[in-house]
Amino acid sequence: MHPHDLPLHALNAVSTEPGFSTRAIHWGYNPAEHHGALVPPTYATSTFAFPDVAYGGRCFAGTEAGYFYSRIANPTLALLESRLASLEHGTAAVVFGSGMGAITATLWSMLQPGDEVLADITLYGCTHAFLHHGLSRFGVTVRSVDMTDARQVAQAMGPQTRVVYCETPANPNMRLVDIAAVAAVARAGGAKLVVDNTYCTPYLQQPLRLGADVVVHSMTKYLGGHGDLTAGAAVFADTELGQHVRLFGLKDMTGAVMSAPDAQLVMRGLKTLALRMDRHCQSAQTVAELLEGHSATAAVYYPGLKSFAQFELAQRQMRKPGGMIAFELHGGMEAGMRFMDALRLVTRAVSLGDAESLAQHPASMTHSTYTPEERAASGISDGLVRLSVGLEDIEDIVADVAQALQAAQRV
Ligand SMILES: *Cc1c(COP(=O)(O)O)cnc(C)c1O
Repeated sequence: MHPHDLPLHALNAVSTEPGFSTRAIHWGYNPAEHHGALVPPTYATSTFAFPDVAYGGRCFAGTEAGYFYSRIANPTLALLESRLASLEHGTAAVVFGSGMGAITATLWSMLQPGDEVLADITLYGCTHAFLHHGLSRFGVTVRSVDMTDARQVAQAMGPQTRVVYCETPANPNMRLVDIAAVAAVARAGGAKLVVDNTYCTPYLQQPLRLGADVVVHSMTKYLGGHGDLTAGAAVFADTELGQHVRLFGLKDMTGAVMSAPDAQLVMRGLKTLALRMDRHCQSAQTVAELLEGHSATAAVYYPGLKSFAQFELAQRQMRKPGGMIAFELHGGMEAGMRFMDALRLVTRAVSLGDAESLAQHPASMTHSTYTPEERAASGISDGLVRLSVGLEDIEDIVADVAQALQAAQRV
C-alpha cells in the first residue's frame, strides 16, 4: 500500500458510507494512532530519516511504502489527499501549491508533442494562457470548442485528441457544460475528460461520478475558504494516472508542491465546507434575484434563476446553484468600472470563495490583457461583472450591491 492510500481508520466500524461532512471532518484519521490528538499533526518536514540504507533504497525503488521527501509525498498532504479523493469519489488525489500547479502538472503528465487538446471557449485566464500560449509551444495542438453543446465536442474530436478540458460553471461567465454528455463523447473518442470543479467544490458537484476522468481544483478558493493560502489539487478516477502525475508532473515537471501547514489550513476549511457552501448559495440566490429585477442590468447569469439558459442542466448536475454570479451592466466598460468603484463592503479583488464578498470586472482586470477579439471569442463582454457572494449578513451585501448599481446608472 502506498502511504497516501490511507485506510478508513476511525470510520471503519461504520457500515454505510458516512455523509459528506462526516468524511470532510474525519476521513483517514484515527486520533488513537496520534496520542489522542484531535487535530492531525502537521508534518512540517522536508525529508524523512531512513533506518538503514537498504530501506532508503527500497523507498526509491518503489518497493517500500515509506515517505522520503516532501516534494513527492508527506503524511499531512496524504491525509488531505485521502479526504479529497473521498469527497470527489476518486481513487487517488495529489495536492499542489496552487490551482495552476495542479492544472499544469496534470496536463504535462497526460500529453506529448503531436497530441491535441479540446478546450472549452471560456476558461480561467491563466488556464487559457497555459493552453494557448504555453502548451502550444511544445507541439501540442489546442483547439477551442463551445462545450455547452456536446455535439460540437463530438464533431471536433480527432484521432490525436487525448484530453478534453472544461470548467463548469465556467469562470467568469457561468456557462455550464453537461459533464455526463461530454464525458461520453470523450470516452467514445479515446480521450480523457478533465473538469475544473473550483466553482462548485465536491459538495455541489462530483464530476467523476458523472464520467469525468480527472477533477482539478484551485483550493485557494472555496476549499481553503478563508483567503489565506494558495493551493490546488487533482483527483483521479484511475489510480495509475494519479501516481504518474505525482511522480512526473509534480516531482519532475513542476515541483509545485504544497506546504504541510497550508494543507492543515485546507483541512480546517473542509470541516465547514458544507455549511459555508449552503450559506454562499442562499445569499447568492438573493443577490441574483435583486440583480435580475434591476434596471441597471442587461443580463444576469446565475444557475439558480429560472431565466438561466441552462437551468435544467444546473438542477440535474449541481446540488445547489453555487455562490458565484455574473451579470452584464447596461453601459459597457464605463458602467462596469463605475459599479466597481462605488462598492464599499464588497471588496474589489480577484479570487473567489472567501468569507468576504469579492467583485471583479474581467474586461478591466483579469482579462484586460486579452485582445478585444479574444475577449469576445471567450464570451466576455465589457460590462460583465463577476461577484463572489461572501458570508457577511445578506442585508449588508444587498445594500452595498444596490447602491453600486445606482452609481453605475449615473452618467
Ligand atoms: C483561481 C482559479 C484557478 C487557478 O488557481 P490558483 O490557485 O490561483 O493557481 C483555476 N481555475 C479556476 C476556475 C479558478 O478560479
